Formats: sequence, C-alpha cells, structure tokens
Amino acid sequence: MIRLTEPRAWRALGAGLVLGAALAPRAALSQPTIPWPPHAMNRPRPPAVTPAPSAPLVAPPSDAIVLFDGRTLSAWRSDSTAPAKWKVQSGYAEIVPGSGEITTRRAFGSGQYHIEWASPSPATGKGQDRGNSGVFLMGRYEIQVLDSYRSETYPDGQAGAVYAQHPPLVNASRPPGRWQSYDIIFHRPLFDQAGRLVRPARVTMFHNGVLVQDDVELTGPVAHGSRPPYEAHADRLPLSLQDHGTRVRFRNIWVREIPDSTAPRR
Ligand code: MG
Repeated sequence: MIRLTEPRAWRALGAGLVLGAALAPRAALSQPTIPWPPHAMNRPRPPAVTPAPSAPLVAPPSDAIVLFDGRTLSAWRSDSTAPAKWKVQSGYAEIVPGSGEITTRRAFGSGQYHIEWASPSPATGKGQDRGNSGVFLMGRYEIQVLDSYRSETYPDGQAGAVYAQHPPLVNASRPPGRWQSYDIIFHRPLFDQAGRLVRPARVTMFHNGVLVQDDVELTGPVAHGSRPPYEAHADRLPLSLQDHGTRVRFRNIWVREIPDSTAPRR
C-alpha cells in the first residue's frame, strides 16, 4: 500500500497523473449531456417574470449585418434559391403557413443575433401549436419561438428554450401580438481536422431584455424527442426561421459577427 504522506508517493502519483492525462482521450471531445430526457414534463418550470411592457425598436449598430429592415426579404431565400415566400407588410414579415422556412443567403457562425417577433393575436391553439416558429442558428441549433404567455408546454420547448435541451431560466414572454426580442450570443461548435468535436456550441440569450440562457452548452443539433450528436460542419452556415404552420411575425433582424470563443470548456 502506498502512503500518500510520503513525498516519494506524491511524486509517483504526480507522474502517473501526467502520464494518464497524456494517454486519456481529450475530455473536450465528449458530448455534453443533460440530466433530463428531452421534453420531460416534470422538469422544473421556469418562473414567469414580467418584462418591460413593450419592445423598443433596437436600431442595429454600425457594424451589424441587417438581415431584415421591415421592407424586403431580399437577404433571404426559400428552398435553394427562390425568393423568400413569406409576406412582407407594414414593417414586418409574416409566415405564410405551408410555404416553408426562410434561410439567409449569407452564412454566419459565432455572432450576436437580434430578432424581434410577435405571435398571432388573438392566440389560437395550445402548447406547441400556439405561435410556434424557431430561430435556427447555423440552420441546426434551434432557439424556440412560441407563444408561452400563460401557456404551458414542456419546459425545453417553450419560448427562449434551446429546443429539446435547455429551458429558459425564466419565462419572460409578452402577451400574444406584442413585439418580443431575442438577443442571442452564439458561439459555434469547434471541430478538429478529423471532424471530432473540440468545443460544443454555447448560447447566452436575453428574451425581452431578460437573461434566459447563461452560457449553456449545446448537446448537438436540434431534434424532436432526441439529442443527436454533433456532426462536423462548416464554420459558417445560413440562419433559418421556421415555418411551423402559424402566422408568427418578424421584424428588425440583424447580426454582428464575433470571434470564435477559445475559452476552455467547463
Ligand atoms: Mg419551433
């Protein structure tokens, strides 16, 4: 038996730890996990907070790439190349149910994303059928858009959730028909030359100015009812907005590109 009170034993242990660290697979290559299954209804409910009653229009700063200024969806497409099929009127774009998602023509990675949206008023439907849309960062990491004002669903699927992964810290929803804002700080995942995950994607996010995601690690791309692993992809990919069959409106969409985070994984 080695007694760790002996200096020789500490030296041996230290050498072993160094060797072990050299031989062990890099911990940063592992997938993040979440101790709740997707869509668990018994997951703690984010408490409701009342944000400021209206959304001031946050004008894009000088270095922002404006994706929608209320007048034209020319920065977006439907399908592969067709012009975006959503309706533009009175300073906003409205989903045309069944027309499909819209996708930016330009690709983005790590960035500060600003999006304003409003769910239909009067509200119809319940749960996931109530003002559902979604912000798909890099086309695959979904921030849920949903009318969650006094409306229940599974916590990892409500407004401000990283869908199927992270419920928001609080429910900062405004009533249906009111403009709401998302400010998302997104760090894309990093992959090595072999396509292995080096660093998961991270999200910090404000809903109507209220912190709802605090530097959470994403488990991989979005899916319904599962958490598929990461698959290596390009450094930049287009942003998409989801058509989930309800007439959600959008306005004032812009992004500021930011450097990839090199901070160590927790
Ligand atoms: Mg959605």
